[in-house]
Amino acid sequence: MLKCDFGNLHHEVERLEAAGAELLHLDVMDGHFVPNLSYGPMVIKSLQALTDLPFDAHLMISDPGRYLDEYVAAGCDAITIHVEAVPQPIPLLNRIRAAGCLSGLALNPGTPLSAIEPALSEVDIVLVMSVEPGFGGQAFQPSALEKVQQLRKQAGQDLLISIDGGIGPETIGDCADAGCDLYVAGSAIFDTESYQSSMDEMKKLAAVPAS
Ligand code: ZN
Repeated sequence: MLKCDFGNLHHEVERLEAAGAELLHLDVMDGHFVPNLSYGPMVIKSLQALTDLPFDAHLMISDPGRYLDEYVAAGCDAITIHVEAVPQPIPLLNRIRAAGCLSGLALNPGTPLSAIEPALSEVDIVLVMSVEPGFGGQAFQPSALEKVQQLRKQAGQDLLISIDGGIGPETIGDCADAGCDLYVAGSAIFDTESYQSSMDEMKKLAAVPAS
């Protein structure tokens, strides 16, 4: 939801629902962990009133533990923190699960899988960043695919693997082949005329049953 029209959130959510989006991925940036600022729990809470879609909050913030309760209260269904921001993430992942949310752990392109391995048993979703976090519209980094493959081999089928950054018709098929379950697309939807046809095309390429 970083690339949507914030002046027309109601309309944007309606278009995404109609196009068959399965969840809304909310990029939260604090101007510290990443250089940009985006939105926080108040905006997420107001989005809640507009849809029943699950909310997946991607916290690109330095001290997620401090604000966690606000994101839970805002109605997030999954909350993802960055291992670069929280190198010992297990206690926080446990708090996320205890709050009834899916726990997510994200890693940047330059961070090795070994950084998240000790925490994997407490993680429901690993978010593999295929661009540097902080800006929409960047080119996909193919090295992310190796990470996904390796993670899928290591973690088996129970773990959800999500990929974020540069996802579109040119890249989504490779992500599916590598073993991804969830695809975060921004420009590939919001910069097109028809969300429906963009989403249908990508679902086909990822062999996700169209809804
Ligand atoms: Zn994201």
